[in-house]
Amino acid sequence: MEKKPPIDVQGGCLCGAVKVRATASPHMGACHCTMCRTWSGGPYMALDAGETARFEGEESIAVFKSSAWAERGFCRTCGTHLFYRVQQSGQTLLPPGLVDDHDARLTFDHQVFIDKKPDLYSFANETVDMTEADIFAKFGGG
Ligand SMILES: [Zn+2]
Ligand SMILES: [Zn+2]
Repeated sequence: MEKKPPIDVQGGCLCGAVKVRATASPHMGACHCTMCRTWSGGPYMALDAGETARFEGEESIAVFKSSAWAERGFCRTCGTHLFYRVQQSGQTLLPPGLVDDHDARLTFDHQVFIDKKPDLYSFANETVDMTEADIFAKFGGG
């Protein structure tokens, strides 16, 4: 699949207390792991913002350490999911719903932890799919 260059994105949470700006890959992914599905209520849709995400309204951000290597942030007031962050590298994945004009600007082209996806749903998009074993082989930790 053709690799598109990063784009500047901005947006904010439902109540407006938290704003974000980042330079992110327009290639949107979905994670089907159990933690993401519990946290999101469904697959976690995500944009890789590398280390570029800058938040305004830090006092409104609650952070939950969800594993030995990662943490998840959300707005204290409205509960909007703000990020999944790998603590060591600072790599941040942003939910596409935070990004203004996301429908026109993003491409949904990959899915991770596809082996954890319940049979309940399946996306019709053409995607590159990775299993848990693929991910640990590539990144050494999810
Ligand atoms: Zn909010
Ligand atoms: Zn996940």
